[in-house]
Formats: sequence, C-alpha cells, structure tokens
Amino acid sequence: MTSIPGQLSPAPRLLLGPGPSDAHPRVLTAMTTPLLGHLDPQFLEIMNETQTMLRAVYQTKNPLTFPVSATGTAGMETCLVNLIEPGDKAVICTMGYFGNRMVDIAGRCSAQVTVKEAPWGQTFDLQVLRETLQTVRPKVLGIVHAETSTGALQDISELGKLCHEFGALLVTDCVTSLGCTPVKLDEWEVDAAFSCSQKGLSCPPGMSPVSFSPRAVDALKARKTKVQSWYLDLTSIMSYWGGDRAYHHTAPITMVYALREGLRLVLEEGLEARFARHVRNHVALKAGLEALGLTYTAAAHCQLPQLNAVRIPEGADDAACRKRLLTEFGIEIGGGLGDFKGKAWRIGLMGQNSRPSCVFQVLAALEVVLL
Ligand code: PLP
Repeated sequence: MTSIPGQLSPAPRLLLGPGPSDAHPRVLTAMTTPLLGHLDPQFLEIMNETQTMLRAVYQTKNPLTFPVSATGTAGMETCLVNLIEPGDKAVICTMGYFGNRMVDIAGRCSAQVTVKEAPWGQTFDLQVLRETLQTVRPKVLGIVHAETSTGALQDISELGKLCHEFGALLVTDCVTSLGCTPVKLDEWEVDAAFSCSQKGLSCPPGMSPVSFSPRAVDALKARKTKVQSWYLDLTSIMSYWGGDRAYHHTAPITMVYALREGLRLVLEEGLEARFARHVRNHVALKAGLEALGLTYTAAAHCQLPQLNAVRIPEGADDAACRKRLLTEFGIEIGGGLGDFKGKAWRIGLMGQNSRPSCVFQVLAALEVVLL
C-alpha cells in the first residue's frame, strides 16, 4: 500500500539566494482567487491588464509583450527559436553561466554561433562589440543584462543602437534585472527581452515575461522556415496573447493572477522608488559584507544591487556554512555556479526581499557562521 505523506509544512525560510525570492504576501493571496476559464471574458480582461502593466515595467510600447507559460529559460528559448533560422549568424556574449546557456540554445537552433567571452565578473566594452558586429554581421546578438552567476550588470543602454547600425537584432536576458534595476526596452532599442516571475517581481517561478520590438516581429514574419518548437512558436502564441485570443494552450491561470499582483506592486511603488530602494539596501549590505572581510566577485563599476556575489573567505567551508545558515537561521543564500562553484556565495535582495530587515538578518547570521 502507498503510504500517504503528511500535509505540507516545510520549515520557514527567508529566500536570499539568486532566486526564487520570497513571493509577496499579496501575490500569494491573489493566487487563492478561484479559477476562471482561460477564454472567460473576465480572464481575457485580466490578460489585458497584465500585458499593459508588463509594458509599463519593461518601459516599452511593444504590442507583443506577454508572459510565456514557463520559467525564464523558456523565455530565452522563445527569443532564440523565433529569431534564428538554421544557418543564421548569431553572436552570443558570455561573461558567466547564463550567457553559456544562450550559446547552447543558439547552437540547437542551428545558428552559426560566434561566442564573445569576457572574464567572469567583468562586462563588455561597446568598442569590442562594435568590432565583432562589423566582422561577423550577425542576425542576432544575445547578451545577459544582469549575470546572476557573477553579480555583474552589463550596460546595454547604447547596444541596441549599435546592433541596428549593423542590421542585427538585440536579444537581452533580463531575468535578474526586471523589477530591480532599470530596463528601458524602447529607449535602449532592445528587440527581444525575457525575464522571470520569481526574482524582482516577487512571484513564484513559472512565468517568463517577454517583449518583442516591431523590428523583431518583422524578422519573425520574414522567416522561411517553421519555428522548430511548437509550444514556443510566437506565430501561433500571438493569436492567444494578441488580438483574437484564440486557444493555443491552457494558460496557467493562477500564475497570471500572481504576475498581475506582482506587477501591481511594482507600479504602486513606482519604478524609480523601487530601483532606489534596491540600491539603498545593497549599499547597506555591501558595507556589512566588507566589514566581515568579504569581497565582491564583480568589478566595482558593475555590481548588481539585487545580487551580491562575494568570494568565500579562506578557511570557510562552503557547504557547512550554507547549511548552518539554512538550519540555524532559516536563511537560504546561493552557492557559486560554473567557474565560481565552491568559490562564491550569492546573496539576493530582490523585489520585496530588498529591505533592511533582510540585510540585518543575513549579516548577523553570516557573522555567526564565519566566527
Ligand atoms: N538567465 C539568468 C540571468 C538567470 O539568473 C536565470 C535563472 O536564475 C535564467 C536565465 C534561467 O531562468 P529559470 O531558472 O527561471 O528558467
């Protein structure tokens, strides 16, 4: 006979890693709203509201802005499978773990991929990318805006213009930036962007907000081959999230409720106030971490406020320290990824977790485990 496990009752946690971050209580409440059918007129209105707010948060007028029904990686895949046809040239810039994931996906789309690498913890200089664009003449250039593995923020404010000079489309990974640091799709001339629900938007994981510029939509319409993924094919998803609301797949209703509430919270606070709050709490955390002797992995000019990646101090046992934080203090922080595995800790102050009490709690707990 199958033994039935007990009711769920995990010990409480404060999620101060690279994501998921804690969902806001208002988001969790919204998720208890009774289900509607995915074609119910009331739900269609909720979709409209969600898209309108998403455009405001992405700072864009792009009509094709909606959440993909899956996590951030599906957003990455949506951008690349739709914009790349077999044989197309793609330049992918990597300065950490998630850039490498883009390289892998672009390769699976049968692109001719040129990989540009910057050392982990550093970012790209525009002049270097200008030379690459000039030499390669790619259809697409992909780059991570906020590299979660290193804690580095790539300045992309002039990159869209540069890509357009050479006829390339700019695809950006905004998984760790949206809702925490400015993302200005229109001003920065970004053609395709993807993000997630579980970090700066204070929702559970499960949705990937994406946005496509009219230029990207033109490229999609000019395709000669079918998009190889059925589920992520924008030419058909557009008819559900676009004008005629035709069935494509059953929308994850509860996750749309969550995202709608997360976006309401962002806009109620105001984008500028929210970004300033992330900087304030980062400055406080950084002062405390440095007082504990910890140093950042990202260069000083490009440190993310929402993701503080620091070197594990000499003599500290990575796994043992993180286990003590979790079991004695209920605090989760992240370990290192890829090249930084066993070498870095990643402390996230994202969305509603960017607040002074989180700063104090993690600093106090770290002081104890590092004693
Ligand atoms: N890109 C970046 C920069 C990320 O930090 C992550 C996840 O943390 C992803 C992509 C993948 O997102 P997901 O894990 O939601 O699929």
